[in-house]
Amino acid sequence: MFALVKSKAEKGLWMEKVPVPEIGHNDVLVKINKTSICGTDVHIYNWDTWSQKTIPIPLIIGHEFVGEIAEIGNNVRGLKIGERVSGEGHLVCGVCRNCLAGKRHLCKDTKGVGVNRNGAFAEYLAIPATNVWRCSPDIEDDILSCFDPLGNAVHTALSFDLIGEDVLITGAGPIGIMAAAICKHVGARHVVVTDINEFRLQLAKKMGATMVVNTKEQKLSEVIQQLGMKEGFDVGFEMSGNPQAFSEMVNNMYHGGKIAMLGIQQPNTIIDWDKVVFGCLTIKGIYGREMFETWYKMTTMLQSGLDISSVITHRFDIRDYEKGFEAMNSGMSGKIVLDWSK
Ligand code: NAD
Ligand code: ZN
Repeated sequence: MFALVKSKAEKGLWMEKVPVPEIGHNDVLVKINKTSICGTDVHIYNWDTWSQKTIPIPLIIGHEFVGEIAEIGNNVRGLKIGERVSGEGHLVCGVCRNCLAGKRHLCKDTKGVGVNRNGAFAEYLAIPATNVWRCSPDIEDDILSCFDPLGNAVHTALSFDLIGEDVLITGAGPIGIMAAAICKHVGARHVVVTDINEFRLQLAKKMGATMVVNTKEQKLSEVIQQLGMKEGFDVGFEMSGNPQAFSEMVNNMYHGGKIAMLGIQQPNTIIDWDKVVFGCLTIKGIYGREMFETWYKMTTMLQSGLDISSVITHRFDIRDYEKGFEAMNSGMSGKIVLDWSK
């Protein structure tokens, strides 16, 4: 089969012919139909310091996918060949305290598809049957190929009560803008999204943000006045990984406000602890998706009118994958879907 392989310790990815993966008794083989590109894939493509420390070479990368079941392991029950599936890219140990308690997203030994083991940018992917998500027939492939990052947005956004609340999202990347759509869908009042990239702020608007703010040009304190909010934001979702954005969030929260952190901060990020302690802020870390409650909510919210279609800005045949990575690197994109079906 063909696969996109990180086969050299330098910038780039290479389309190579490799063996179809063998499945174990508890696995399924998925024939990939569409994949989408994650920021993580771009880090690996660019071969940044994180990738150099993390990625074994050679590795088939990619973890956002939809396809159909081509083969089923002997022990697998309840799945059929030909079923359309996406899947959870976090593989958990199954035996730690949290796994045993059914809180698999809190497993301390999580391994990543396309990061620690071969991934989905290939004609076929082998994964444990327990990681498979059976897709609803009314949701289209392009959207399903984005279920992994949509799940990050859903997991984060549904962390706190949002009904009638004023929400600040820092970072209008694909996940931030999907979170904006979710907040509006579940009944938030004002959903303000910040970024320093105009293209992305315009996408956030398309996705339903009530206001977008380029923080190079406008202060959040002015926005709070303008929107007639009393003291600050009730809920904050940090989705930029930028220390400046995080600090702006902490400085503009209502006393008793709640923050969920998805963006990955630098280890030396400074935080004004007085704002946290005396402002009685709650800060919650978010990793991945809840298995599989988040996947259930993604499906049912899409079925009840959540529209994230504007997040997909580019579609390419897999042969043109270089164009996809170029668009991601330009910053002028939302999600990019790669088609393996032809
Ligand atoms: P992304 O990099 O596409 O988007 C981040 C956005 O933040 C960009 O549009 C960038 O212009 C913006 N930004 C930069 N500086 C800013 C500033 N000062 N103020 C406001 N915005 C600023 O990322 P994404 O794919 O949407 O993911 C969002 C974040 O979540 C990233 O940090 C990513 O690494 C992280 N992430 C975490 C998990 C997890 O499980 N915790 C999973 C996926 C992604
Ligand atoms: Zn575990």
